[in-house]
Amino acid sequence: MERSHRLRDIRSLTEEEIADLVKELGQPAFRAKQICEWIFAKQAGSFDEMTNIPKKLREELAARFTFATPTEITKQVSHDGSRKYLLQFADGTSVETVGMPSRNKLSVCVSTQAGCAMGCAFCATGFNGLTRSLTAREIVDQVIHVSRDFGERVTSVVFMGQGEPFVNMDATVEALRILNDPDGMAIGARHLTVSTCGVIPGIRRFAELPEQFTLAISLHSAVQSTRNKLMPGVKKYTLPRLHEAIQQYVEKTGRRPTYEFAMIEGINDTNPEMEALIDFCRGTLCHVNLIPLNDTPASLMKPSPMKKIETLQKRLQMHGVEATIRNSRGNDIDAACGQLKQKHLAR
Ligand code: SAH
Ligand code: SF4
Repeated sequence: MERSHRLRDIRSLTEEEIADLVKELGQPAFRAKQICEWIFAKQAGSFDEMTNIPKKLREELAARFTFATPTEITKQVSHDGSRKYLLQFADGTSVETVGMPSRNKLSVCVSTQAGCAMGCAFCATGFNGLTRSLTAREIVDQVIHVSRDFGERVTSVVFMGQGEPFVNMDATVEALRILNDPDGMAIGARHLTVSTCGVIPGIRRFAELPEQFTLAISLHSAVQSTRNKLMPGVKKYTLPRLHEAIQQYVEKTGRRPTYEFAMIEGINDTNPEMEALIDFCRGTLCHVNLIPLNDTPASLMKPSPMKKIETLQKRLQMHGVEATIRNSRGNDIDAACGQLKQKHLAR
């Protein structure tokens, strides 16, 4: 353990650094290509898996570098086939990750931070604050873990687990690029979705990326006073500023953002709330996802009755706003939106 803190993870090296390393070890250049292939294209989980590399060289690599893949602490399987994992990194920090299979597709929901500092009133993740942000490698390793556990290729990734991706922007962008790399996991940019609670500088930076990554914004209310109460962490990014940043994103990219709207009884399902949401969306390129609030021990709030949710969907559609009702997966194992918690170890 002591050693793993001092040594670098071999997967944090660039291709050039691996080429230099191979030279330094007096090995022929093609070994560098082989090692890179194992690391980047085949997503190897250990030095031992590099079967075309001589054992002696593998041992030399292992003496100089770590291969720190996360440890699976627990795995729960939902009746709908979703699997929720508690994964632990080398320093003992753990996060939750969810794998969601459907027909021949496999979607993964990754965490970008352990915990979250934003403190949304309805979300279990924010309840205990932030432990730390994850590295790009730690975000990607969650996807690899799920892929290996299902024995399938991952077809889409949503950055909707624990944490706020846009306060961990550099690692988020790096992870997106690793997942998108055609020589690596090759997940199409449109199948990589980042969800933000509305951190405007992050939205602006996201708009500048050349790749076609997908953006989702957790809106939850288009009434400022309600939103401030529900999402105190983004108070300073007011609704008019948020609206403007999103319109600039749309103009720049031509892509359609999704608004997530968790419907909470008596809070954001009233008539004035519905009207404010319609006003916020009308005439813009967007898609609204209505989600019945998931129960969390963090709050006493309750989901809106389905009738209200359907009414809002119809009203949005009547005004030309695309809206769908999303049923959360993995509800029975607390793997649904906002149900991911920080520590399960003490239980
Ligand atoms: N921090 C980012 C991404 C992680 S949260 C964000 O907030 O967007 C993923 C999604 O789950 C967000 O849309 C969030 O608002 C939603 N969510 C959180 N708690 C929820 C709950 N109890 N019920 C339904 N959705 C919830
Ligand atoms: Fe953080 Fe998102 Fe949960 Fe808010 S909803 S506390 S931003 S993870």
